[in-house]
Formats: sequence, structure tokens, C-alpha cells
Amino acid sequence: MAETKYIFVTGGVTSSLGKGIIAASLAKLLQARGYKTTIQKLDPYINVDPGTLNPYEHGECYVTDDGAETDLDLGHYERFLNVNTSQANNVTTGRIYQSVIEKERKGEFLGKTVQVVPHITNEIKERIQLLGKNGDYDIVITEIGGTVGDIESLPYIEAVRQLMWELGDNNGIVIHLTLVPYLSAAGELKTKPTQHSVKTLMESGIKADILVCRTEHELSDDLREKLALFCNVKREAVIQSIDASTIYDVPNMMLNEGLDTVVLKKMALEEKSVPDLERWDQFLDRHKNPKDEVHIGLVGKYVELQDSYKSILESFIHAGAENEVKVNVEYIHSEYIDDDVLNNKIAKLDGILVAPGFGERGIEGKIDAIRYVREHNIPFLGVCLGMQMAVIEFARNVLNIKDANSTEMDPNTPNPVIDLMEEQKSITHMGGTMRLGAWDCDITEGSLVSKIYGTNKISERHRHRYEFNDKYRTQIEAAGMVATGLNPDTGLVEVVELPSHPWFVGVQYHPEYKSTVANPHPLFVAFVKSALQYKNNK
Ligand code: GLN
Repeated sequence: MAETKYIFVTGGVTSSLGKGIIAASLAKLLQARGYKTTIQKLDPYINVDPGTLNPYEHGECYVTDDGAETDLDLGHYERFLNVNTSQANNVTTGRIYQSVIEKERKGEFLGKTVQVVPHITNEIKERIQLLGKNGDYDIVITEIGGTVGDIESLPYIEAVRQLMWELGDNNGIVIHLTLVPYLSAAGELKTKPTQHSVKTLMESGIKADILVCRTEHELSDDLREKLALFCNVKREAVIQSIDASTIYDVPNMMLNEGLDTVVLKKMALEEKSVPDLERWDQFLDRHKNPKDEVHIGLVGKYVELQDSYKSILESFIHAGAENEVKVNVEYIHSEYIDDDVLNNKIAKLDGILVAPGFGERGIEGKIDAIRYVREHNIPFLGVCLGMQMAVIEFARNVLNIKDANSTEMDPNTPNPVIDLMEEQKSITHMGGTMRLGAWDCDITEGSLVSKIYGTNKISERHRHRYEFNDKYRTQIEAAGMVATGLNPDTGLVEVVELPSHPWFVGVQYHPEYKSTVANPHPLFVAFVKSALQYKNNK
């Protein structure tokens, strides 16, 4: 195919309509028809990346192989498409301004007044087209964060308007996602908010080609006609997106609504074959027809907000399907763990995952939970901070080093079993400076993780500043907690396990970022399997 085609996805009426899932589902269908497709998310906030955002603000921060700290929608893209995203797939207003201001300081604008139009809009256009530049993709889907009409998204909308004009017919299309609310008092679905939102888009010079309408009830033919007429789109381009029981149903729902065929027609692309969703459907079938179930506790301090642990929750869905079991995730707030929670809640679970995190809040609860599962042989997976807490718990309660701690929690601890990494010691800026992205890890032959991965060389994604303090390694290993995964260059401890325990694994990295529908992560698959075994042996 000669030129890369561009699809822009905008949102109207309200936020949280699920643009990311629609974009990922469309990409899945186009990919399944044989088109090389990628997705990009443009976020209108001023943070340079979401790395400095608290999960309460914006949900989980997702990390790519190349070390980008990104919006959680990129996680959906990877989980749906099974292809890696990168730094270029997520761009924020902060990043755009940072780069324009850097160019201005270098004198690149040759004395011109630097303005939103054209300088900011040009930078946005460049970032959009960057992904299509090398011919790697037939289709680039760009999701514009925020809601049309927001002050913040105006430069993005203007950049899309210009690009649509520059790309010319058939090379770019706009999909507008809106809400068709149901008024129960009137017993009716209402189209007016959608009409207004399309009009707002028109005021910025953009005509929506396709409407995707989020709704709680089926759109009737009449209603579809009405939306088409008043929103100036073809009847076939009114796509219903009804609430789904799982996000993994959305690609098939969009297929049934013909979203991919309208898109291809608008871009003058062949339909090629019918989308090959065989593997996807097999996964869905296993996900929806589990033969058994397990209850796994997720111990963390952000449990009030499900989006904080998005990738972990999705990894459990993939691993559950792989094992043909339903994984019921029970949230356990790490700040409120007492004897009652331990004896009446944790004791009844089939496995415990202690979540990643930062700062002191809730860590003693995590440590108490780990002690309980270690002593009671309940399967345990510790991720990042969860692994660090497992080391602290072991040092305190097995080695009897009562004041063992991480210098993150107590900078003056006499026994820093977890300590700031050497290269972090000179860092003063918080943004983008953690140990990020994919690093290799050598696995010890014969260890539990070596059996799980089926290989002794792995690469996993990271996001941390602290590490297992090597000074304590001999002592800790002698007492029975073994480091079975090491960075080949620095010796940094990536994995710890307890050979005396049926299933106890702590990992410094984040396996959840690499679990996809097509490749459920082996650690999650094995953890769920061990939870099932534990349950059956009870
Ligand atoms: N706060 C810990 C560190 O920086 C763990 C980070 C995490 O869980 N992602 O090392």
C-alpha cells in the first residue's frame, strides 16, 4: 500500500465513553483483515507524561518496552493487538509545548513569533505523522483525548482539521464517539446531545464521517435514520456501541455493526478477507465459560479506583481464560489490614497479589499480608513494591532484623534491605527518571520461574527507583529466600522466590504490562494455576 491512512477518533458529550476501547477494537478488526495498524493517543493535559500523576488522577501509568510512561489506553492497544507501542504512541500537550519551546530556545524559528497556530499545531501534526512515516503501518488510528469543545483540545482539533485537508480524500477519516442517553422518565433515547456535539465539531471545521453511539439500549432504525440526517453522516455510518459485559466483546460488536467495512469504504481500501478472529473468539469462549473459579486478593492502596491496577486486572482475565477458571479479584486495602482481615478474609483466599506502589502509606499492611501468606502456604505474587515488601517481611520475621526497611519508607533505617539504586542517587527531577522499560533478566536453571517461563533469558518492563540491597543477599539466601532472576550486567535482583513454599514469587518488574489476549503472561497463568491447586487441596 502506498500511503499510510489516518483515522482520527474524537469524543463528544461526556468523557469516559471508551474511545480507547473503540479505537483498539477497530484496530483489531483492521489488523485481522491484514492491515498493519497502530494506535496513538493524544492527551490534552500539560504533564509531559502521566509518570508524575497519582493513579487517582488518571488511573494506571502504563510502561512500554522503550520506557515510555504512558496513558493506560496504550495497555488496551497492546492487549488487543499484541504489538508493542512506544514513546511515539502517546503524546501530551506538555510534550508538544516542551518540544516547541526547546526549538524556540535553539533559535529554530528564525525570529518569528511562536504561536499556537501554526507552531503548536505543526508539532501536533508532525507527531501524528511520525508513526506513518517509515511505511511501518498501513493505518494509524489517532485517539484525541478529552471531549470536543474543551478549551484544552482545541489545538488538536485544529491540527486534525488541517491534516484532513492536507491528506485529501480517502486518506483520512474522523470517527466521532458520542453518548445517546436514555431518559427513563420519557422512556426514550435522546439524540440531541449527539447533534450538538457533531455541530461543535463542525464549528471547528471538521465533519464527522462516522458516528459511534454509546448507548444502554438498542438504537432503532428510526433513531439511526434521524441521527444520520441531523448529523450529516450516511445511514450505514451510524454505529451502535451498546454496553458490553466485557471489553473483549467490543471487536465483535463493531464487526456486527460494520464499523470496519464503513471505515475501509471511506478510505477506499479493499475489504480483503473477513477478519480472522479465531484466536480471539477462542479466548472469549474460555473467558465466558469457566470450569472453575478462584478468589485472589489484590492488596494495594489504590483499590478504590479499579483503573489504578488496570493491567493487573486484565492479566488475570487472560490468565483465567488460559486456565479456564474465573478469577474473582477481591480488593484488600493495604491501609486497613488487621487480624480480622488476615484471619477472616485473606485466610479464605486462594492467592494474594501485592501490588506495585510508591510511598509509605499502607506498607505495614502489605508486610502483614505477606507474612500471613508465607506462613500459611497461600500462593503469593509480589509485583515491584510487592516484591520489595516480601524481602522486608522476610528480613524482619525470618532473619529477625526487626528494623529492616526500604530507604523509600525510612531514609535512615539501619537495615536498608531495599535501597535506592546507585544511579538514582544524583537524580533531583522526578519526571521520566526512574529505571524504565525493558531490561534483560537471567533466570536460574531449575528455579520455579525458570519452569514457568520455559526459558532462562527473559525481558520484562520496569518502573522503579529502589532495589534489593545486594549487601543482604548472602544472609537472605542462606535463610531460604533465593534470588532466581538477575540483571546480566548489573546483578540487580529481579526475582525472589521461596523454595520451601508451594508458590511464592516476587518480581521487581511488571509482568502485567506484557500480558495480552494472544500471549497471556506465563507468571499470571502459573499463579492462577497454583491458586486453583491450592483451592482444590484445601
Ligand atoms: N516505590 C518502589 C520503587 O520505586 C516500587 C515502584 C513500583 O512498585 N512500581 O522502587
